[in-house]
Amino acid sequence: MSTSALINRLFDVIEDDIAPKTAEGVAHGNKLFGAAILRKSDLSLVLAETNNEMENPLWHGETHCLKRFYEMPKADRPDTKDCIFLSTHEPCSLCLSAITWAGFDNFYYLFSHEDSRDSFAIPHDLKILKEVFTLDPGGYNAENAYWKSYGLRRLVRELPEAERKTLETRIGNIAKRYDDLSASYQSGKAENDIPLN
Ligand SMILES: [Zn+2]
Repeated sequence: MSTSALINRLFDVIEDDIAPKTAEGVAHGNKLFGAAILRKSDLSLVLAETNNEMENPLWHGETHCLKRFYEMPKADRPDTKDCIFLSTHEPCSLCLSAITWAGFDNFYYLFSHEDSRDSFAIPHDLKILKEVFTLDPGGYNAENAYWKSYGLRRLVRELPEAERKTLETRIGNIAKRYDDLSASYQSGKAENDIPLN
């Protein structure tokens, strides 16, 4: 499978499987972060989930997805080594650790930590990395003994022009959708009791 076919499939999952759940979650006061697990073999979806911090502040998009994954019957659950982990936004320190402990050897994300801070007004990922781990932006090890991470925007930038243009249009459409979700979350967040809202 080509890189652009993989990216198109991951964008399909964001648009068709994650974002609808996130729209529902945001309507209930949750943040707009979501995640999904796919089988490497045929890129079929295992499951998609969204942030559920209104229930528990540890249920970020990624950790909530992992919680649901381990609630599946063991027989239906592929080995994490045979799976792709997809996150709409670059995982925070909590989720980086969760993905590691669950045994994935990869993850892909669309929006960066800087996007979360600058476009989505959620600075906590970078702030925690700095305050707790003394790391500057980009300071964690994006490829290490456990996994390799892939920023989808960077992968798109490296493609030949024709494929790049098509995928950049798709990114623009997805970003617009998430801008709306962000406006909705930000306008209601004064009323929630999420510790780091
Ligand atoms: Zn997180």
